[in-house]
Amino acid sequence: MVLHIDSLVHRYPNGMTALAGVSLTVKAGERVAVVGPNGAGKSTLARHLIGIARPTSGRVEVNGRDAAGLGIADLARSVGFVFQNPDAQLHAATVAKEVGFGPRNLGFPADRRTALTEWALRVTGLTGEADSHPRHLSFGGRKRVALASVLAMDTPIIVLDEPTTGQDHRSVTLLEELLRGLHSQGKTIIAITHDTDFCAENFDRVVVLAEGRVQWDGPVEHWLEGA
Ligand code: ADP
Ligand code: ADP
Repeated sequence: MVLHIDSLVHRYPNGMTALAGVSLTVKAGERVAVVGPNGAGKSTLARHLIGIARPTSGRVEVNGRDAAGLGIADLARSVGFVFQNPDAQLHAATVAKEVGFGPRNLGFPADRRTALTEWALRVTGLTGEADSHPRHLSFGGRKRVALASVLAMDTPIIVLDEPTTGQDHRSVTLLEELLRGLHSQGKTIIAITHDTDFCAENFDRVVVLAEGRVQWDGPVEHWLEGA
C-alpha cells in the first residue's frame, strides 16, 4: 500500500464541498487514471496528495504516514506533482538549472543529482535545450521541462495533471514511452486526464470522480466497455 485515502472531505471557505467523502487505496506500482467532469474534485484531490490542501475531515496517508502531519517538504520526497500549467512551476534561468533544482533542494549528493538531471533531460527529449531559457520554449516544451523537474526528484509516486493537454503527437508518444519506463521501474503513476485514448493505452485502473465522490473504480477494460 502506498496511498490510502479515507473518507476525505474538503470544504472550501466559501462553503463549497469539493470532496464529499473520498476513499481510495493505491498500491505501489499501480497506474491509475482519475477522470470525471469539470468541478468533480480532481484537482482538489491532487492538492491533498502533495500536502497543499488540508482535510476538512478524513485522512490521507502516504506510505503509512499522515500527509497532513508530514508537511510539504517531506511529502516531496514521496510524491512528485506535475501541474497542468507548467508556468506554475518554472522559475530558473535555464532548463538544466530548472531540472537540477529539485534534487538539489532534496539534498541529493552531487553525483546523484547530475545523473538524475541528465536522465530526466534525456527521457523528456530536452538534452539539446539544457541551456535554453524555459520561458523561450513552446507550451509543449515547457510542459516537458516541468515533467523533467519532477522526474529528477526520483519520487516513488508521480502525479500528473492533464499531461497530454497542449502536447503534439510526438510529445505524447515520448510521454507514453517514458511512462512505460517508469512503470517498469516500479513507480506508482496517477494521472488526472480527459484523454480516453491516453487512459486506454497507459493505465490499468480508472477512478471516476463526480460531485466530490468516487462514482466508479475499476479496471480500464471495464471502463472502456462502459464508456
Ligand atoms: P476538477 O479538478 O475536477 O475540475 P476541482 O477540484 O477544481 O474539480 O473543483 C471541485 C469544486 O470545488 C468545484 O465546484 C470548484 O468550483 C470548487 N473549487 C475549486 N477551488 C475552489 C476554491 N479555491 N474555492 C472555492 N471553491 C473551489
Ligand atoms: P532508456 O529509455 O533511455 O533506455 P533506461 O530506463 O534504460 O532509459 O535508463 C537509461 C539510463 O538512465 C540508465 O543509466 C539508468 O540507470 C538511468 N536511469 C533510469 N531511471 C533512472 C532513475 N529513476 N534515476 C536515475 N537514473 C535513472
